[in-house]
Amino acid sequence: MPDDAPSLEELTHAVLAMRQELTGRITEALVAQRQAHVLHQRTLTCPDCQRLLPARPAPPRTGHPLVGEVALARPYFYCIPCQQGVSPLDDALQLSERRTPWDRQKAGARLAAAVPFETAQELLAELTGLALSDHTLHAVAGELSHEVGVLEVSPPTAEMATRVAERAAGQTWRPVLVWAIDGAFVPTRPEQAKGQATGRRRTRAKRAHWEGEGQEAKGFRCSLVDKARIVQVLSCDQVCTDADVGAAPKHVQAAGLIPEDQGRWCVIGDGAKWIWTQVKALFPTAVQILDYDHCREHVHKVGGLQFGEEAAKAQAWVESMMARLFWGDGDWASEGLEALQPRDHQAAEEIRKRIGFLRNSAGRVHDRAARKGGYPIGSGGIESANTCISHMRLKRSGAWW
Ligand SMILES: [Zn+2]
Repeated sequence: MPDDAPSLEELTHAVLAMRQELTGRITEALVAQRQAHVLHQRTLTCPDCQRLLPARPAPPRTGHPLVGEVALARPYFYCIPCQQGVSPLDDALQLSERRTPWDRQKAGARLAAAVPFETAQELLAELTGLALSDHTLHAVAGELSHEVGVLEVSPPTAEMATRVAERAAGQTWRPVLVWAIDGAFVPTRPEQAKGQATGRRRTRAKRAHWEGEGQEAKGFRCSLVDKARIVQVLSCDQVCTDADVGAAPKHVQAAGLIPEDQGRWCVIGDGAKWIWTQVKALFPTAVQILDYDHCREHVHKVGGLQFGEEAAKAQAWVESMMARLFWGDGDWASEGLEALQPRDHQAAEEIRKRIGFLRNSAGRVHDRAARKGGYPIGSGGIESANTCISHMRLKRSGAWW
């Protein structure tokens, strides 16, 4: 205390600075009181050979739970013939093998799920006075995410049923259940970065090398669509295999969360081949729709490359192409591309790619028919959820996964 008459704030600061030591000591005292019989155990019968073993001196085990450092001088027993060691206190207290205690891992994981790892470390240190290494945070969040699948992130069955029933009520047509499947490239922490020094300066320097390292997080947003609105039902993004994301709607269906007869199923996706391979295999009856917004981007690109400065010509051509696509005539749209005399090599290449793209998308461009059936033709409405989830959560600055 610098002052003889400290203010409440000064006292608070002093207590906060010592909180780890204080609560750690209290915990030690509680262990000593409540586990006295185990702490002072002099002998133990070997669980395998029944020999009577004497307590051996052992270094205290130091743990760092959220309450601060807890040092436990506990007896240790070793049976030489069985080559087996036992620490009864560790069992009595259910201490894990892991160096970082469970409560700190849990706090770290909760923070890391909500904010970037670096912010999580800062917040934890500021609010609890505890440090959690960059490595531990990544390891814990990584392990958790491996155990989490679509069913763990789904709303409960009853809530899902209510959402579906509310949409279906009073409708002549069953609502359309749209699965918008998509991939997003997200920055991830490379293998070689794991277990390295955690000093912030070094970490920052290392990160410079990680730029551009990333993996594709694949996922979907499931929404109920009718004339009036789009209701978000479920969404999930994960770095996983094509088969995993393709099978996710199947798991949802198998768990009874959204039965296939509850609404007309449809899938919206861009040109990515993996999406349609999965859909064909798992949902042969679902209506397949090539995302109109995605098409428009491609058409605009061709228009720009082919007509360059002639903006009016480019616009007229783009409009005629979008009309052909809107009428669901892929062949007619292909003809529109084939009729172009490529201005240069770049335009020729883009035109060639788009013709192939339309050919591969046959049967998914049926926008006018889709509209009449109440199906969405683009992922525009779903895009906002996409931006919210994939982009803000996964791609935000400082976030590594
Ligand atoms: Zn033994």
